[in-house]
Amino acid sequence: GHGHGAGQVEQPLLPTVKAIIAVASGKGGVGKSTTATNIAMSFAQMGLKTALFDADIFGPSMPRMLGITGEPVSPDGQTMLPMENYGVKCMSMGFLVPEDSPIIWRGPMVMGALEQLLRDVQWGELDVMVIDMPPGTGDTQLTMTQRVPLTGAVIVSTPQDIALLDATKGLNMFRKVDVPVLGIIENMSYYICPKCGDEAHIFGHGGAKAEAARLSTEFLGEVPLDIAIRQTSDAGEPIVVSKPNSPHAKAYMAIAAKI
Ligand code: ADP
Repeated sequence: GHGHGAGQVEQPLLPTVKAIIAVASGKGGVGKSTTATNIAMSFAQMGLKTALFDADIFGPSMPRMLGITGEPVSPDGQTMLPMENYGVKCMSMGFLVPEDSPIIWRGPMVMGALEQLLRDVQWGELDVMVIDMPPGTGDTQLTMTQRVPLTGAVIVSTPQDIALLDATKGLNMFRKVDVPVLGIIENMSYYICPKCGDEAHIFGHGGAKAEAARLSTEFLGEVPLDIAIRQTSDAGEPIVVSKPNSPHAKAYMAIAAKI
């Protein structure tokens, strides 16, 4: 039949979610999860019913970043209630396996797990779901973009040339499967020395803005490298909720408003 695998009817995923935003990066460690978390928190602050979905099966970071412990409850033995903190619903593989045990799976198993987490969780009516995508442009990312009715994707990159090159690949992947690219966010844009106030461009500067212009996509904003962002993230208190009046929280809010 039409895309039906093994005689099974594929239900459309996430029918009760109005907008689904994928947050992606070309490579790991550029701050994709941190950005996805703070953008989700910003949406929630705007009064939107928000969820955050951790699609990084091999390196889930949402339990720690949202400060959520414990396991999801299944009221009927079939579906799960999402976890929740700061008014944001969340699901992650990290809630289902111990933090220190590696998941050693091939692609199809990863896809099966992602589908289950999206389908069998009682998300309820949502205005927006932010998806923290795994890094890169592999099989999983491609299938996710094809299976999940994404409203659009945002790309997180550092200003560094190599990260930008990888980010461009990510962007082109979304364009290939007709997912609108909503723009690029530059993370770790600059560092302000807490002693002298000097602004240092550790990974270069302005690269993402130039790349956004070259690729005819929006430049959504920049976030500096700052210890407060790392500390709040590690403590499970994203900066948008723990220091809402800080310039960094305002930067995330401004980015979310543009999305
Ligand atoms: P990714 O999801 O791309 O692998 P993470 O969001 O996990 O990246 O970030 C990697 C590390 O960098 C984390 O320890 C995080 O707290 C830190 N980090 C991310 N963005 C910033 C920032 N703007 N300033 C300081 N530390 C950051």
